[in-house]
Amino acid sequence: MTAAIKSKEVRLVSRPTGMPTLANFALAETEIATPSDGQVLVRNLFLSVDPYMRGRMNDRRSYVPPFELGKALTGGAVGEVVESRSDAFKPGDVVLNNYGWREYFTAPAKELLPASRDIQPLSIYLGTLGMTGLTAWVGLKLAEVKAGDVVFVSGAAGAVGNVAGQLAKIYGCRVIGSAGSPEKVKLLKEKCGFDEAFNYKSGPSVDLLNEAASDGIDVYFDNVGGDSLFAALAALRVHGRIVACGMISSYNNESPEPGPSNLSNIVSKRLTMKGLIVSDWFSRRPEFMQEVSGYVKAGKLHHEETVVKGIENAADAFLGLFSGRNSGKMVVELT
Ligand code: NDP
Repeated sequence: MTAAIKSKEVRLVSRPTGMPTLANFALAETEIATPSDGQVLVRNLFLSVDPYMRGRMNDRRSYVPPFELGKALTGGAVGEVVESRSDAFKPGDVVLNNYGWREYFTAPAKELLPASRDIQPLSIYLGTLGMTGLTAWVGLKLAEVKAGDVVFVSGAAGAVGNVAGQLAKIYGCRVIGSAGSPEKVKLLKEKCGFDEAFNYKSGPSVDLLNEAASDGIDVYFDNVGGDSLFAALAALRVHGRIVACGMISSYNNESPEPGPSNLSNIVSKRLTMKGLIVSDWFSRRPEFMQEVSGYVKAGKLHHEETVVKGIENAADAFLGLFSGRNSGKMVVELT
């Protein structure tokens, strides 16, 4: 039996107004209970920070309940079993869990998913082979992408976006991405195989997209909303499809964002726009893992991530999502 373990965790101590700040978070230490029958004690190795967590910091229910003040935040994590009182896991096993933002935890074994050490780095289970990769895979299914489609992805250098674009390339599409810096544009073209990419901060997206896709686009994978959605509505061809995956440009707005002024394109071009919540699709995870881990192992899909070290920097890593400090998946490595 392991002696009582002290674990650091990040708590939400106040609800942000507009852009969150470090003052909304506090690092605290707590003692972890030893596991009882059916439970395991886990040490987290990598934590996920994700834009959707911003919505949970507000005091109103969306598709998930708000985070509780004064309590450790939760989120995706990859950990290693330290002690087990379940037949399902033994010490050293790698487990995927939703007990992020903390170093250690004790939980029922049935809440954890096993993962293999054969694929490295293990942080890939939070990105390309994790929730964000699944989101990209599902989004392309919803948009019914097919070979020959011209697909535009916004937030393309981020966790969901880079995988969406790379998968669309594998499926035989022509892929255009937008991202917030020249370095990210280079990454998309040189490492992720995008056909075209532009820096949305270098001019009006509507002009930049028109330049990159003068004959229009068939599919828009929306991670951003705002000007990007406006540009896509202008560029979509008749019967074009939009996957509404996220609208990060408005997550910190203090008043509601008006819709794009060219929404009537949905009527005139007979467009389809589908919303997506990845948790509706968790049952498809085995199929996703089989397909996408195959591309990773075959070297067909590049895994991009930004690793921030130390739980004391987790809140800052989260804030970095809103200023584009990450390329690919933003993860926190616990050292
Ligand atoms: P990312 O890895 O893409 O990180 C966020 C990125 O968004 C930043 O790197 C930044 O890149 C960009 N960004 C930040 N602020 C703005 C802004 N004002 N305008 C334009 N771009 C901005 O995060 P994820 O891949 O995890 O998530 C991408 C989107 O997908 C988010 O909207 C998220 O909420 C959504 N999502 C939805 C899911 C669902 O089930 N529907 C599941 C998972 C994610 P840059 O430098 O390019 O500006």
